[in-house]
Amino acid sequence: MAYISLEHVVKRYQMGEVVITAADDISFDIDKGQFVIIVGPSGAGKTTVLNILGGMDQCDSGTILVDGQDVAACSPKELTTYRRYDIGFVFQFYNLVQNLTALENVELAAQICKHPLPAEDVLRHVGLADRMDNFPAQLSGGEQQRVAIARALAKNPKLLLCDEPTGALDYVTGKSILKLLQDTCRQQGMTVVVITHNTAITPMADRVIHIKNGRVDRVEEQPSPMPVE
Ligand code: ADP
Ligand code: ADP
Repeated sequence: MAYISLEHVVKRYQMGEVVITAADDISFDIDKGQFVIIVGPSGAGKTTVLNILGGMDQCDSGTILVDGQDVAACSPKELTTYRRYDIGFVFQFYNLVQNLTALENVELAAQICKHPLPAEDVLRHVGLADRMDNFPAQLSGGEQQRVAIARALAKNPKLLLCDEPTGALDYVTGKSILKLLQDTCRQQGMTVVVITHNTAITPMADRVIHIKNGRVDRVEEQPSPMPVE
């Protein structure tokens, strides 16, 4: 059985009289340690799928198995535990606490976890050994995203979910963030899922899931994905 498996996931949003089907019978698998890119145009349903997979939102029907646990069948309390212990999130705009240093941001997240990794080690891993005592405003966008990745990794999660992680960065900086995510997957065996509208980065993934109009358009396997250089 696959490490992660979505089966027939449906999610609708009611907007007054209008019902929007954001996820319309979505099924796909992710293997442990894979670097997966979910790609599709704006409004296709990518964030909806990621939020459901990460326990930030609940689907209307379907099954979501993550390492044997059916996330779709979790109570709100169980979902909180799942989000806290099992999932690392990385967002487009970093979402760091502005009045805490890089180190404190990472420590804060690590505190509430079952098996946290030492904050200093994780900050070193993302290349910020020298910037631990800086506040977010003193760091570049790329460095802030590195702090956000460290914060997510410090939880030692089963799964790292990234929503347009390079979307606010210039090309070169974005590339270095993608490289960090790919290296983390390769070196630490972390299962990493990145959503993007940018088809240019899909050659770097082990598996590419194309989403269109709330449906899986196709899934590509890439036995020899390109390393991010
Ligand atoms: P993507 O991430 O691919 O841009 P989304 O998952 O954000 O797509 O959105 C898919 C569809 O669901 C869009 O039509 C969007 O407007 C709608 N949608 C997403 N979240 C909500 C919400 N909270 N309420 C109403 N509609 C939503
Ligand atoms: P957008 O798709 O948002 O219009 P870009 O095409 O500049 O903007 O790419 C957005 C991000 O995608 C960049 O910051 C970069 O991280 C990444 N990217 C795009 N193309 C490549 C590539 N060939 N190799 C590595 N990273 C890429």
